[in-house]
Amino acid sequence: MIVVMKHGASQEEIDHMVRRVEDLGLKSHVIVGTERTVIAAIGEHRTTDKQSLERGAGVDEVMHILAPYKVASTEVKAERTVVRAGSLSVGGRAVAMIAGPCSVESESQIVATAKAVHAAGATGLRGGAFKPRTSPYSFQGLKEEGLKLLATARQETGLAVVTEVVAAEDVSLVAEYADVLQVGARNMQNYRLLEVVGQTDRAVLLKRGPSATIDELLLAAEYVLDAGNPNVMLCERGVRTFEEHTRFTLPLATVPFLHQKTHLPVVVDPSHGTGHADLVPAMARAGVAAGADGLIVEVHPDPENALSDGYQSLDFQQFAQTMADCRRVAHAVEREM
Ligand code: PEP
Ligand code: MN
Repeated sequence: MIVVMKHGASQEEIDHMVRRVEDLGLKSHVIVGTERTVIAAIGEHRTTDKQSLERGAGVDEVMHILAPYKVASTEVKAERTVVRAGSLSVGGRAVAMIAGPCSVESESQIVATAKAVHAAGATGLRGGAFKPRTSPYSFQGLKEEGLKLLATARQETGLAVVTEVVAAEDVSLVAEYADVLQVGARNMQNYRLLEVVGQTDRAVLLKRGPSATIDELLLAAEYVLDAGNPNVMLCERGVRTFEEHTRFTLPLATVPFLHQKTHLPVVVDPSHGTGHADLVPAMARAGVAAGADGLIVEVHPDPENALSDGYQSLDFQQFAQTMADCRRVAHAVEREM
């Protein structure tokens, strides 16, 4: 249920209703909007609970939430969430660009990439230190050493660091260095990881599992929100289909559909979504045209010799061109970039 407070309800009235919700054995999430405050009351409730909450002072109405995801739903919060982490802001008028290599490989690689993408207009730096690889024999990332190199690159450029965490036991270590914790496609339904990430104060980039439905993605986000972390961005990175000409199939209708269902910002990953560097620029532009709040793009100084995902990585020049083209599309759809 949601308890919608009257416009101008006092803090005492809000606090009182939070206690009332908790006395009924429900969990409360207070969502303060510019217009009014709502209290989401989550859990199994009896029909009489709604009537009893409706009588509270300062309460406008009490409604059932129809969506299976509660806190993520636009039913609970119509205003769009803006996720902020250092230099990065995702969900406002400006379209964010998170760019960098698939994996951190060396200081010179990550610092040179950070400088190049920063100069071209990126607002966040990506780079994996803990890599979830399909084969155990592939490069697994530089781990903590990679995190330190990301921190150096942040120092050099001021760019917020977006990096993946693959296991619950690594969250505190990765959170020491990262501005944004990326939960990868393979871990979208690792519910213990989602809970632990939800207990941190770091923003979260949650990627869609390649065979997950949108409802499953939103319910995964709900784990992070329910654990107390409101700063979640969703990422469409392509799904698995019968098609083989691309690594995954990138369904861009996800963007406007998610914007109907949730207030959380939506990021598009045209790199994993296509798996081919020559398809990335067009799908990056298309993502912006579809209304994405941000893009995450793989960029490498020497894609041919990258330790992971080189075939889908842009070089510096290709990235600068893509950024400039995306900016023109952003202006056409009344956004900044
Ligand atoms: C990545 O961002 O490099 C990555 C592993 O992405 P995904 O989880 O979407 O496959
Ligand atoms: Mn990658």
